Parts: sequence; C-alpha cells; structure tokens
Amino acid sequence: MTLPAVTVEIGFDSGGAKQSLGTAYDDLVWTDVTAYVLAKDGITFSRGRAEAGQAAAAGQLTVSFDNTDGRFSPGTTGGPYGAVHTRMPIRVSAINSGPYSPTYFAPADYDTTDSTVTLWLGFITDVDWDVRGAEARGYTPEVLGCPIYPSAGLDERYQYTHSEHPFKSIKDWHVAGMIQDASFLINFAHAKGHPSCGYGGAIKNLALGCMTGTTRSAMHDVMHVDPYWFPERCPDAAAFKALLASCPHGGLVEDKHKPGHIHLHFEECNQCGRCLKVAPAGSLKIDAANFHAFQEACAISTAVTLSTFAPEKRTHLVLATHMTPVCDCFGFTSMPILPDAGLFGSDDLVALETAVLDMTGKSRLIEENLPTSMEVHTREGHPFRWLHGPLKDPYLVTAYAEQLGLGSRKYELVDVYPVEQVFQNEAVYIQAH
Ligand code: SF4
Repeated sequence: MTLPAVTVEIGFDSGGAKQSLGTAYDDLVWTDVTAYVLAKDGITFSRGRAEAGQAAAAGQLTVSFDNTDGRFSPGTTGGPYGAVHTRMPIRVSAINSGPYSPTYFAPADYDTTDSTVTLWLGFITDVDWDVRGAEARGYTPEVLGCPIYPSAGLDERYQYTHSEHPFKSIKDWHVAGMIQDASFLINFAHAKGHPSCGYGGAIKNLALGCMTGTTRSAMHDVMHVDPYWFPERCPDAAAFKALLASCPHGGLVEDKHKPGHIHLHFEECNQCGRCLKVAPAGSLKIDAANFHAFQEACAISTAVTLSTFAPEKRTHLVLATHMTPVCDCFGFTSMPILPDAGLFGSDDLVALETAVLDMTGKSRLIEENLPTSMEVHTREGHPFRWLHGPLKDPYLVTAYAEQLGLGSRKYELVDVYPVEQVFQNEAVYIQAH
C-alpha cells in the first residue's frame, strides 16, 4: 500500500501583505514547511465532543516543528519567512496517488511554544455571536459533522463591500467573506413567519444570512428613515403617555435618545390601529413606506449576494414544514400554525418563493396553536399577513425581487415525489412536574 504524501504549509505574509484569518482562501500564498515537521511526534487532529454530555471543543491540529533557529517564533522579523506573527493560516494536505486529495484549511492561533494550533474546519454560520447560539439551537458539531465558525470571520471583519445599490440609509452592503468566496450557493431555507416582513423564506434567508451583522442591523434600520412621529402635533405630556400605553403589543416606546419622541418597534406592530385612535391628529403615522422599506432592502441584499455567483452556480430549496409564526433566530420554537406543505426547490428564486407562498397560503391557519401574544385582525391574503398585519404582505418581496431581475413570479409546479399516503404519528406530550 502506498501511504499518502503529507504536506504542511503556512500562509506567511506575502509581498508585504499580511496574511491571516481574514485573507480570502484563494488569495493565500502558501509556503511548504513539511521539511521542518518533526516526524517522531506525528500530526494529530481532533474535533467535536469526546463523550456524550461534554461540551463540544474547538478542533485541534497538533504538529511539532524543528524551531531550533527560531524561524517559526512569533515576533521574528529577519528569518526566512519575513515577519512571523500569531493567527497565521496553516493547512495540512494528505495526497494519495489517486485523485482524492483532502485539504484542511486552518486559520489558526499559532503558538510555537508547544507547537499546537487551533483548527477551524467546516460549517459556516452567520454572525460571530451565533457560533455560541448555534449549539443552543441544536446545530452542534456532532449534528453537522464539523465545527462551526462565523461567515465573516471570528472578528466580523472579513467581508466584501458592494456599493452598487445604495438604498435609504444604506450606502454599502457588506457580504460575509466566506459566503462570497464559496464556489456554489445552495440556499436551503425554512418557511416561517417573520416579525419585520410577515414571512421568512428563500429570499429572507439570503438577504440577512449572507450579510455581516453591521449590514443586517442597517437593513432593519431602514424602516425608521421615513418620518412617522411628528412631536409638534403632540405637545401634551398626558396625551404622549396615553399614546405609549395604547399599544397592547409593546410597539410604542419613548425614544431613549430623544425624550418626548416615539420609537416604533415595527417588529411588534401588526398595524391594528389602536394607537391612531389615541394619537393627537397628525402626530403618528402607521405608514406603508416604513414597513415596505425592509422588504425592498431584503430584495436588494439578495440581489447583491446573488451577483457574486454565476447563475449556474446557485440553487434554492425551501422546507415548508413545521411553520411557526416567527423567525427561527428567536432561539425557541412553537407549535406549527400551518399544515406541512413539503419541500420545494428551483433555480428561480422568485418562482420558488411565489410557489411556496401560494401553496402555504391555501391552508387553514391553525389558530389554536397561535401564541397568546399574537392576534388575528385581518383575514385577507396569506395567513402570515393575518398575523403580522396588512403592511407585512409576504408577497411584496417577490415583487421587488422580480423588478431587480432575480426571477419570475410565474411558475409551473411539478411533483417530484408526490405524497400518496400521509402517516399520522400519535402526538406524545411530556408532562411537566
Ligand atoms: S398599530 Fe397597533 S400594534 Fe402597531 S403600534 Fe399601533 S397599537 Fe401597536
């Protein structure tokens, strides 16, 4: 048997450019340091959870170098590799004589004291804090088969800036570096409600999931650009107080930066209109321009991300089962409010989103499963609109996306795997003690 040839490489600084975790993988320049690996110690990898019940550990690569002349020591500047610092990328390749050639990429904290580096492989989540949140939501290294790390780097600074679609308060869009670096996009979304736009599916998944945390925040902020509070029409403190108390959903609060001003939580607002009955004339607007801005921002954000992939390098899937009233990022789930509709897929993002909405929109809203904090006050349009309000129409984003050339709202639905028989499992409840 022929053993694979093992190569160890480090991404030292190249041509005066600092190489680190934030350097795009394809741009890294590698230096082969295999000759300095101490074979007697071997090369070992570990990752995940050693035993059930333990916390999942970061993956580790252990490799020992002959560092007798200090060439690998951080702080060295005059050695054969120029300036050596911490957090330099390292990779190990094991190449068989055949075509199979696994390569491991490890942006690493690199410490020559014990020659141990921390290895990051695999699954990419969205913003940096979600690496911690991912495990709480069931996305563990064991489930995914690889460790998890954030798409814009450990410090949320690995990004590509796009200035081609300024919109309201957003001048630049920042696509997460590892998303734009990917060679193929499989957009796998879960259909559910969303507090800002009524519905979260394939478009919302790309719109928020592929941008850095800064851009995601900016996208929510566009709802506040068009003025909705006119304080000169409400000079009376008692009227202001009554207005704050009029919203049963916590949608109206006093602006913490501007006392005497209203801050509208658009996520909480279902446009019931109760506040408008209390507000002094002309002091408050519940206006389509504010609500629709988020959906337009989602369409633009999606267009920016898709522009970084060739049309033949992207496809989209939506899982329309266990559809809950609000977004998965809340970190909890609830009972489904619509019957399962299946798995949908298409290379046309807009056609897919429209088909999912049409199919789920035909269903009966399971009102007995609604959280007690939500109410139905309209029964027109898609059931998610019933919950989140008439100005959060789930179809709106498909219209914006079509205008941007992301696809067509016309589609033909083809059953790939028709459901011929539905099996009902008995519901099991765990009693609280
Ligand atoms: S319209 Fe209804 S939900 Fe929205 S802020 Fe006013 S009272 Fe609250």
